[in-house]
Amino acid sequence: MTRGYINCKIWHSSASAFLIEDGRFAKLGTREEIEEQNGNNELIDLKGMLVIPGFVDSHMHLAELGFYLSQMQLIGMKDSSALKDKITAYRQQNPDARWIIGRGWDDTLMERPDKKMLDALCPDLPLALTRVDGHVMAVNSKALQEAKIDENTAAEGGTIDLASGILEENAIALIQKAMPAPNEKKIRQYIELGQKLANSYGITSVGSDDFLAVVRDYRPVLNVFEQMSYQEALTVRVNEQCEFVDLNQYAQFLDEGYTMDVGNDFFRIGPLKIIADGTLGAETAALSEPYADHKENKGMMTISEDDLRIMTQLASNYNMGVIVHAIGDAAVDTVLKVFKEFELPGNPLHSGLVHCQILRQDQIDEICRMHLSCYVQSLFEEDDGRILAERIGTKRSETCYPFTSLLHGTLTSNGSDAPVCMPQALHGISLAVNGVQGIKETMSAEEALSSYTEKGAAQIFMQDSIGQIKEGSYADFAVLDQDILTCDPHEIDRTKVMMTVMNGNTVFEK
Ligand SMILES: [Zn+2]
Repeated sequence: MTRGYINCKIWHSSASAFLIEDGRFAKLGTREEIEEQNGNNELIDLKGMLVIPGFVDSHMHLAELGFYLSQMQLIGMKDSSALKDKITAYRQQNPDARWIIGRGWDDTLMERPDKKMLDALCPDLPLALTRVDGHVMAVNSKALQEAKIDENTAAEGGTIDLASGILEENAIALIQKAMPAPNEKKIRQYIELGQKLANSYGITSVGSDDFLAVVRDYRPVLNVFEQMSYQEALTVRVNEQCEFVDLNQYAQFLDEGYTMDVGNDFFRIGPLKIIADGTLGAETAALSEPYADHKENKGMMTISEDDLRIMTQLASNYNMGVIVHAIGDAAVDTVLKVFKEFELPGNPLHSGLVHCQILRQDQIDEICRMHLSCYVQSLFEEDDGRILAERIGTKRSETCYPFTSLLHGTLTSNGSDAPVCMPQALHGISLAVNGVQGIKETMSAEEALSSYTEKGAAQIFMQDSIGQIKEGSYADFAVLDQDILTCDPHEIDRTKVMMTVMNGNTVFEK
């Protein structure tokens, strides 16, 4: 059975109509050609709108996005009285909750929540609120008690401040382990919520990092994804960025026969994902020179160079690419040093760096020379542009967020890191094109769209089947109500996704 679409503009094509069959683009052509081939089957008039490949959000956390949507959402919160209202409302709606969990506060917008504030707001139940970037957590006394954290507790690659109830980086896992773990049914609900939201923004494919996000165990997450892929219940294609901190667990995973490329076109095992440092917002990104506003602070590495080397060695033994969260230039130095020891000409496994924010020119050159894959987030520029100069000074800022240089020099894709940012791909494109104060580089609309589609497809070796509108590719596409490539750049942000189709199925319609 075919379905025809007529009266549209198509990115990178002069065709004005197309036909899909068995989940793929069967033909691109004129209205007459498509109508004739489609016969009496369904025909959709797109009224002159633009058809683009479904967005590839190259780095996000799909299950955690759904988890975020089901907990207290604090993004954009301006003060502690708003937080108080949130907690009261949440408790009324969830009278059986054993833990109160929220995410999204940003201490560049509001006073940093601490134990004293949280004890006053919620004395009787454990309360844990994660910063917008996921790298700092504020908890109340009850949460510290539940997690059995006291002055004797240590966290390598993290910090615990008992007085303020603030935990950074690896210490956050101590609290997460004490929270009630969701079962597979719940994990599936989170994934369903996450993919539904992604579809509404035109996304049909994600690079998703989920193994440590909601249960800190890969098994149940893998079970759910595999089941959903066999049942064709996924409405985004998932390339799993397999995050491990425990070497034994990673070895066990490999032992079970999992390595990069295992799976199918709905769910596939992607590269090993490692986190090397913190974030700019939390001032935990590892810098070679101190932060400009806190001279004693150079951020922190969340993995030692030796451990990074051992994990990379193991991955390369199994032909698995490695991608490393590295935001500060000191973290990038360490990653480049280790990657160089395992360097293969042309980087065939597409190993690379996630975020790539605080870079020096010599590092940009080296990343391009090694053809490392870069996973950037134009969406981050909105918040980080405001604080960049204050955090690291204007001189160092010059070569930071060099996303266009990376796009020109090596394989570079775009994404949201959801739930850090909501996966609003068009907003990301608008920020990349229009630029933000404090960040030097901008992209053309063509480049930004490419970074959000074909580049991400190429990174996961799917350039022949997704990321472009062409005969034989999967029918993964989005329909936009205006042409973002020719409209006034300031109009991009107002553009709406009218329809999202994945594997020939309409998964979102406005
Ligand atoms: Zn992430």
